[in-house]
Order: sequence, then structure tokens, then C-alpha cells
Amino acid sequence: MKKRIIIIGGGVAGLSTGIYAQLNGFDSTILEQGAQPGGLCTAWFRKGYRFDYSIQWLVGTRFGVFNDIYKETHILTDEVKVIDSKYHTLTHLQSGKDFLIYTDIEEWQDYLIANAPEDEKAIKKMCRHMNWCKKLQPFEMPPPLRTPIDYLKALFSSFWTLITILRFKNMSCNEYFNKLGFKNSWIQEGLIKNYKNDNFSVIAFLLMLSWYTQKNAGYPIGGSLGVAQRMEKRYNDLGGSIQYKHTVKEILTENGKAIGVELASGEKMMADYVVSAADGHSTLFNLLKGKYLTSKIKRAYKNWDRFSSIVQISIGVNDVLKTEYPIQVTLCQKEIGKTRITHSYRMINYCYDASFVPNGKTAIVIRFDSPYEIWEKMSKEEYAEEKKKIEQIGREIVEQHYPNSRDKIEVVDVATPLTTVRYTSNWKGAYQGFNPTRKNISQQLAQSIPGLDNFYMAGQWLFPGGGIPPSTQSGKWALQLICKKEKQKFISNDK
Ligand SMILES: Cc1cc2nc3c(=O)[nH]c(=O)nc-3n(C[C@H](O)[C@H](O)[C@H](O)COP(=O)(O)OP(=O)(O)OC[C@H]3O[C@@H](n4cnc5c(N)ncnc54)[C@H](O)[C@@H]3O)c2cc1C
Repeated sequence: MKKRIIIIGGGVAGLSTGIYAQLNGFDSTILEQGAQPGGLCTAWFRKGYRFDYSIQWLVGTRFGVFNDIYKETHILTDEVKVIDSKYHTLTHLQSGKDFLIYTDIEEWQDYLIANAPEDEKAIKKMCRHMNWCKKLQPFEMPPPLRTPIDYLKALFSSFWTLITILRFKNMSCNEYFNKLGFKNSWIQEGLIKNYKNDNFSVIAFLLMLSWYTQKNAGYPIGGSLGVAQRMEKRYNDLGGSIQYKHTVKEILTENGKAIGVELASGEKMMADYVVSAADGHSTLFNLLKGKYLTSKIKRAYKNWDRFSSIVQISIGVNDVLKTEYPIQVTLCQKEIGKTRITHSYRMINYCYDASFVPNGKTAIVIRFDSPYEIWEKMSKEEYAEEKKKIEQIGREIVEQHYPNSRDKIEVVDVATPLTTVRYTSNWKGAYQGFNPTRKNISQQLAQSIPGLDNFYMAGQWLFPGGGIPPSTQSGKWALQLICKKEKQKFISNDK
């Protein structure tokens, strides 16, 4: 008889776990509290507009270990067009000037030198470091299944990248840019002020540009919901069963083994294995009642920075608002309702993906960090009032960026940190788990927990930085670990 796996959570990590479970001959069920697949990797519809909530870039769209996973799980298929944009972001600086980050390192270098010739040496050094990061490839196997040969292979194939990582792994972006000693005030504002967060790791920044420049971090047309729906179809086609509106209340254990789950409805479902791809904090502290915390887990949840929670204002405009720079950041100090913006807000114009809107219209999204603490104790009335204020400011921001568009706005939707928590249960609305800082960039949390057999975790909370690539990979890793335990060969494809 087939062994049974219960997977908690139908985000990309849970869907990936389910796909590999089916490929390897298990009988799996995904239990998802919401009504659709994808978790954070989602979109919603308002008056014919689709508003996306996740993917701006996807590491691994062209080659490598993540790309293999995308093909195996149908995140990418031959029919999905991937676009590689010329620009990463356009930043409006407070001095009134603009600062571009190109996705191509050589082009960016030329642009920076042309505008700040006195910094040529420092610019070239920074771009050299990015080029050194190009060779990084993630491991195929989870840490417990790697052999010394895997580490040796990584050392040979990624030598310069690993040296660069070792050299800068304890450095923040801010320290790094200061150390390069830029003299030009425009570059200082564009880099030092823009990346002023004390802790954000420079390795994350260097790697990001190295992936972009190899055209290996594109955007799949159809966006986040397209990804989630293809994964759901792949899972269903392989015979998997996904149960929506099924909230897990507790992971059942007996004699140091996970044996099933209890749902909020009181129903119990038994299984040979349980994989939780739900939010890490609620898995460990609620579903497992804090009984299986290692010192590393305690340290991480106590000391590691989280991504902030965010507000997303989604705006549908009955006109084609064209821009060469779809992702724009505005550095500012500004009150938006009760949130004091101390750094910036971000605006995305989805004009590059026609699947978002009916012909002749534009979908725009504005995002800004907004601490969860502002929201958690709001009364219903305060909440409604706050959303109204934010909606109004959203309209004004669009008008500033696209003059004369105010009267063409057809729909404004405000999603808050409470929306994120309501739909995905992510801890305090942190939309990508732990922030990748100089303290944790080279660390990750284990998928299994000492003292609890037949239980694994998957998803963004295991890896500082989060994101779709490691989340989906952790689903594959969970099945590699289970197959090893079952002494069966792991299969990654049905072709
Ligand atoms: C605004 C934004 C922009 C982003 N941009 C990018 C990007 O450009 N590139 C990129 O790679 N990543 C990006 N990300 C991050 C990426 O979307 C996430 O890291 C990834 O989707 C996390 O997947 P997950 O499956 O680990 O977690 P989640 O998506 O949180 O899925 C967990 C699922 O578990 C369910 N669940 C929770 N508790 C229970 C329970 N008790 N019972 C049943 N079900 C439960 C939830 O409903 C949810 O569906 C972005 C995210 C956001 C929000």
C-alpha cells in the first residue's frame, strides 16, 4: 500500500512538496486554509484588473538547479514566456535626481562611470565583485544528503564566488558601499542612502545583480497566480488531492513521531509523514505547541530580523500609462495614514504583462513597509478609516507619477499586513520570512527536528531571504529526505 503524506499549506512550497510526493509514488494530500493555491504567490481580481502580490523576478529562469525544479513542477513550461528587463529599478532620489540600476553589469558600469567619472575605480571594483558572484549554483541535495564530493564540486565550480562570499559575508550593503569610498554625491545617495539599512547583507545585493546579468532572473508572463495555477494543475494531474478551506490546528504526535493532523473542524487525519509548508512560526509555536524547539530555532525566531509587513495599494487605470521603467522607487519621508515612511515606497506598472488588464488599461501597484504593530490592535472602524486614507494617497501618488490620470482611475484596492496574515498566516505579516542580514545570510534552519520522526518542514522561513526558488526547492528536499528514509530511489520527473 502507498504511504500517505499530509502536507500543510498550499503555497509554492506545499505544492512543490506535493508534486514530488506524487512523482515518487506516495499518496499525498495538501491541506490549505484558503480557497486557492499559491499562498503569498498570488493575485486578485477587481473589476477586470488582476493585481499581483509576488513575483517581480524569479532566480533560475534560464538555467541551473532552480530551473530544473521549475520545469519539473511546471512553474515554467515551453508555453510560458519569460521576459528579462533592461532595468532593475529607477530610484527617485531626494535631491531630485534619478538613479538607475541596470540588470546588465557592464551597462550599469558604463552608466555609473559616465555620470560619476571620479569614482571609476570604485565602480569597476564593485562590478568585478558582482561578476565573481556569477558562478554560484545552489546544491541539488539537502544538507543531510550531501557528500564530501558535492562540497568539492561546489568548491571547484564556484571558487571565486565562494571566496567573494567568505570575504563579504559579515558586511552590510551600507558598510560595503562606504568602504568602496564613493566620492560622487549622486552615487552616495543612490547606493549608500538607498541601501542604508544597517544589516541588509551585501552578498544578497551582489548575487542579485550577478543573476540578473546572466539573464537568469526573469519574469514569467502571467505572474504569480499563473505560477501557482500551473503548479496546482501539475499536482492534480499527478493524482494529488488539494483540500481548500482546511485549516490545521495541531500536528498529532505519538512516541516521538508525527502521525497526522487535527483540523480546526475537529476532524483528525492520519498519515505516515507530515510535512508542514505553512508559516514557520505557527508550525513550531502553535501546531507543535513549542515542544520541539532547538536552540538554533529559538535564536532565529528571537534574534533574526524579519521582513517588514507591507501595504499594497492596487490601482486600475482606464488608460495606457506607458513607462520605460516599470519598477520605480521613491526615496522619501512621508506619512501615509498612520505609517511613517522613513525610506521609500515602490511603484510597479505592470505594462510589461498584458495578461493583467483588458486592452487599453493599466494595473499599478504601490507598496510600502508598514509595521504590523500599527495594525494589530486597530478597531474595525479605525481600520476602515485607515484604508480610506491610504486609498486617497494612492490616487495622489499615481497622479504625481502620471499627470492627468486621476480621473481615469477605476478601482483602488488596499491590502494591509492584516490581509497578509488573514490569507497566509505569515508571522506578523512578514512577507518573505527572515531578512537576509550579515548575521544570518550563510545560515538556514533544518527541515527536520530532533525528537520528532516522520516530520519535515518546507518553505520560506527556513532560508533567510525567502523567495520562490528556495521555497520550492525545500519541497523537493523534503521528498529526497523521505525517499532516503524509505530506502527508495528519488525520482524528479515523469518523463
Ligand atoms: C509583495 C511580495 C513580493 C515578492 N516578490 C518576490 C519575487 O520577486 N521573487 C521571489 O522569488 N519571491 C518573491 N516573494 C516571496 C515569495 O512569494 C514567497 O517567499 C513564497 O511564495 C513563499 O512560499 P511558501 O509556500 O513558503 O509560503 P506561503 O506562500 O506563506 O504559503 C503557506 C501556505 O500555508 C497556508 N497555511 C498556513 N497555515 C495553515 C494552516 N494552519 N492550515 C492550513 N494551511 C495553512 C497558507 O494559507 C499559505 O497558503 C514576494 C512576496 C511578496 C508578498
